[in-house]
Amino acid sequence: MMRKATSPIWHPFTQHALQPEMTPVARGEGAYLFTADGRRIIDAIASWWVVTHGHCHPHIVRAIQDQAERLDQVIFAGHSHEPAEQVAAGLLALVPPSLAHVFFSDSGATSVEVALKMALGYFRNIGEPRSRIVVMQHSYHGDTIGAMSVGARGVFNAAYEPLLFDVAVIPFPSPGREQATLDALAALCESDRPAAFIVEPLVLGAGGMLMYPAAVLREMHRICKAFGVLFIADEVMTGWGRTGTLFACEQADIAPDIACYAKGLTGGAVPLAVTLCSPAIYEAHYSTDRARTFFHSSSYTANPIACAAASANLELWRQPQTRARIAAVAAAQQRCLDRLRYDERFSALRRCGTITALDLHADEPGYLAEVGPRLQAFFRDSDVLLRPLGHTIYVMPPYCVTSGDLEAVYAVIDEAVDHVL
Ligand code: PMP
Repeated sequence: MMRKATSPIWHPFTQHALQPEMTPVARGEGAYLFTADGRRIIDAIASWWVVTHGHCHPHIVRAIQDQAERLDQVIFAGHSHEPAEQVAAGLLALVPPSLAHVFFSDSGATSVEVALKMALGYFRNIGEPRSRIVVMQHSYHGDTIGAMSVGARGVFNAAYEPLLFDVAVIPFPSPGREQATLDALAALCESDRPAAFIVEPLVLGAGGMLMYPAAVLREMHRICKAFGVLFIADEVMTGWGRTGTLFACEQADIAPDIACYAKGLTGGAVPLAVTLCSPAIYEAHYSTDRARTFFHSSSYTANPIACAAASANLELWRQPQTRARIAAVAAAQQRCLDRLRYDERFSALRRCGTITALDLHADEPGYLAEVGPRLQAFFRDSDVLLRPLGHTIYVMPPYCVTSGDLEAVYAVIDEAVDHVL
């Protein structure tokens, strides 16, 4: 008999028949979550990769409190406000110089939808309609229909396949196979005249924390430029220090035409996303002809409270301690990983900035690998928040995590793997 859930809530990416009860979280502080019954959980995946400086960071909390008392929400068509202006100006001081305009939305997926619409709008408005999008194998860009269309096909979206639009796919640049990726991109750019190439720079997150070198990213950008194909950097996961630099594109020294940022934009406190674009894309829409308007909005676009949180986050990024923390977390992660280097239970140990990942020698790879839920249950019982991607275990903590916390996380990984293998 399946145990029935006691709550009417339908949770994301959750099979309720297998996991009827959720962990009830009452409070968050720094790298920890606390349950109502007093358990302390180490948040080793930054609550789905969003929390950067730590839960309930006092500077961000104060900014939210102050803004909530002044202006909670205002329609963003025809109106603006100081927190949004601060975020836009603050972002432009930090991002690659190719980006000059800031469009607000609410989540990573919507920032990707906006990016795709900007790309198609650009080509339509310059009188050269193009609509084909090139993507990388194993990509993930969100769960709306457009974002799923540019992401990998699989168990996640099989039911919706008839609604997904067709895209051109280049292979993931796995070690030794980089040239095949570059050749495929160049061939598609030439034959298909695509509008854009969208890619997660340096690390493919949900696809299994797959990492590739900055030189490949740089070369993919060069190819797109050479063929007049717009380059969209989806930095939703890689942004905000995750790969060791503020944005992953910095490591390849490239200037994308469009960039998507979300998750850590508010330090992980409240939802907010932005899509930034080059002057050419903005100018292609800039006209006295109302038909050229960029027709996109959502009710809460640039919500002032969310913008105040983002503005506070940008202030934290202007402090040198923030980058020093990232370097320290990256070094501590490497030390923990090094101890598993010759452990035969694991393969493909890898790190990019503050993210580590390793694969379990399991019989069946893929997201539905049976080891995944068993590991997750063990982690839950051990008060460590980790969610393996199939047989891939990864650690992506908030930057306030201590070396001691990380050692505890890897000790639990060690035990968990013994338990399930
Ligand atoms: N792009 C990437 C690279 C992501 O990792 C994610 C979320 N994991 C998204 C887009 C979608 O973001 P959101 O969940 O905020 O819609």
